[in-house]
Order: sequence, then structure tokens, then C-alpha cells
Amino acid sequence: MKGTSHQSADHRAVDRRRFLSAALGACAASAPLGFVSMQLAASMSGSLTKEQRDSMTPSQIIDELKKGNERFRAGKMASRDYLAEKRSSASGQYPAAVILGCVDSRVPAEIIFDAGIGDTFNGRVAGNVVNDDLLGSMEFACAVSGAKLVLVLGHTACGAIKGAIDDVELGNLTGLLGKIKPAIPETKFEGDKSSKNPAYVDAVARTNVKLGIENIRRRSPVLEDLEKKGSIKITGAMYDLATGDVEFVG
Ligand SMILES: [Zn+2]
Repeated sequence: MKGTSHQSADHRAVDRRRFLSAALGACAASAPLGFVSMQLAASMSGSLTKEQRDSMTPSQIIDELKKGNERFRAGKMASRDYLAEKRSSASGQYPAAVILGCVDSRVPAEIIFDAGIGDTFNGRVAGNVVNDDLLGSMEFACAVSGAKLVLVLGHTACGAIKGAIDDVELGNLTGLLGKIKPAIPETKFEGDKSSKNPAYVDAVARTNVKLGIENIRRRSPVLEDLEKKGSIKITGAMYDLATGDVEFVG
């Protein structure tokens, strides 16, 4: 039995990877972030294990996403082995977070958070709106699969937000934009309230994230209950297309 646990520890050491690891968070406190990140990148192989994911708190997962975004902005992303990640995750996945983002081609969550295969569940829909199917997906991610963070990710200069402000009508898009519209009267803003004003568009996008979080809590007793128990966190963030920065706003 002793041999088994020894072997298991060795295996963990070899298999230790990357991005989302609470244990390595301790190292970050005593060394410059960039250095630690590069060390992490160099030691990466395989996907997040159940043990690694389960050892993290929701707040630690947020911290790891922030670190990943810093690596992205610094141009020091992890040099990952996607084939190793594919191999190690094929028989099971243990993602730490579920991210609801926009379909915008400039906001790929895995890239802006420097995450790999198996790290995060991702739902993408124009304007990162909440609907029943996405709620079901988030419930699967957290209640069934064990993810500990629900992140609603909005972004600057969002075309869907502009479309909602402009009352665009087009096929099925009309109904989708209708899900964004409640954010418009909820947004307190002084100045030009038009889609031509980037500051206004971004203010509505922030409100849309806030309402998305509220929607998730109100419409999913499953997720609300998990959050009340402290098992998960439901929060939001805004991605800046120009700077690459992700600001957590929840
Ligand atoms: Zn968008």
C-alpha cells in the first residue's frame, strides 16, 4: 500500500502541469509572476486532473484565470503540448470553470486566459446571453462534472450590444437581441446613448454581464444552491479588445 501511494505521488509530480494548479499558486507569492508562469509552461503536460481541480477553491481558479490573462497580455503564453493534453483528457475531463462568452471571433476564452484542452467548459452565444440551454450546460458543468466557477464574459465594442441599442431586426437575431435589451434601461449613463459611443456600448455590456449573473442565480436553483454552499462562485468579467485585459466585475 505504501508503494502505491509513493508511486502515485511520483506520478503526480511527473504529471504536474500548468495553468490551473493551486499548489503552484504558493510559488507565485515568492517569485515574479512571469518567471513562475514560464516555469509552469515548461513543466506542462497533460490536462487538469481531478485531484488538481478538486484541490482548488473557486477564488483560486479566478486567480489562475487572471494569471493566464497576464501571460496572454505579456506574450508569454504557455508552450503547450496539445497532443499530450488531448491524450490525457480523452478518458475523462475535469474542467475548473464554465465560461459563458460571446461568439465574437476576437474573444476566444481559452486563448485570452491561456488555458488548454480540458481546462474550461465554454458556451458562446452573441452577447453572452443566458438561456435555458446554456443554464442546463452550466448545471452540467458544475453539478455533474464538478466545475467550481461560472464566469459570464462580456467584452468591449460588442456588436450584439450595439445591435440591441439600435433595435436591429433580422431573422432569429431579433429574439436574441431582445435578451440583451433589459440591460439598456438598467444602464446609468451620462452622455450620448448611442451605438456610436464606445463608452456607452461598453457600459451596457457591463450591465448585460451583471444581469446575466443575476439571471443565472434566479433561473437556476441548482447553481444558486451550489453557490450558497460555497461549492462554486458565479461571477463576471469584461474583456478589452484593445488591451487584452480581463477585468473581473462580479
Ligand atoms: Zn460580442
